[in-house]
Amino acid sequence: MTAVLAVAACLYGLVIGSFLNVVIHRVPLHQSVVRPPSACPACESRISPVDNIPLVSWIALRGRCRSCGAPISARYPAVEALTALAFVATALRFGWSATLPAEIIFVAGLVALSFIDYDHMLLPKVVVYPLGALVLAGLVAAAAYDGSWHRLEVALACAAVEFALLFALNAASPRSLGFGDVRFGPVIALALGWLGWRYALGAFFAANLLGAGVGIALIALRKANRRTPIPFGVFLSAGAFAVLMLGGAFHYPA
Ligand SMILES: [Zn+2]
Repeated sequence: MTAVLAVAACLYGLVIGSFLNVVIHRVPLHQSVVRPPSACPACESRISPVDNIPLVSWIALRGRCRSCGAPISARYPAVEALTALAFVATALRFGWSATLPAEIIFVAGLVALSFIDYDHMLLPKVVVYPLGALVLAGLVAAAAYDGSWHRLEVALACAAVEFALLFALNAASPRSLGFGDVRFGPVIALALGWLGWRYALGAFFAANLLGAGVGIALIALRKANRRTPIPFGVFLSAGAFAVLMLGGAFHYPA
């Protein structure tokens, strides 16, 4: 059954990864994620369904548009592969549990927000709010499924504490911590707090440790200085995913 779950998570991850590419590319430009259908940015010819198969089409076309031969960024298959890997890891961690859907949605959100923040120094409300609502809905459903309401209480408390903490940090130094992080942090605390408050706290510290480590390395390499803005959402996401994976197989209900 584990093998079935892993294969399903991989295929689902490739499809969702393909959708996340659209979100990453269009949401910061305030474009619809539904219309128009995908087209080559160079020659504007529509991409046919057979050329739009996640990962496979890019490899088959050797990274070029079928009509005009313009190169297609390796970012697209990379996001699809990354999402598939992250989904498989999450599926193996949580197994066939009521927790799995909420955490899969959460991980998809981490991928989208990391890339958008990296590209634009932005964590769009139109992504963060629906993500928070979907994760919360998934956790409420999981709590209802087997009566683990205590987990939900801890998760909500973690989200509230993280919001207060980040709100205070943003008020103290708006340049080092943007308000996008203040909105995103509680979503992370919700998904991690479901596993226990230590996970939420661990994710917060892991994000700061990663951010500081990369920041110091970039300054040492003279690629940045103290005033270079860093996309903290990338580190929040990476820290959250790392800590989400800690703890071995998930015993449910716990
Ligand atoms: Zn083209």
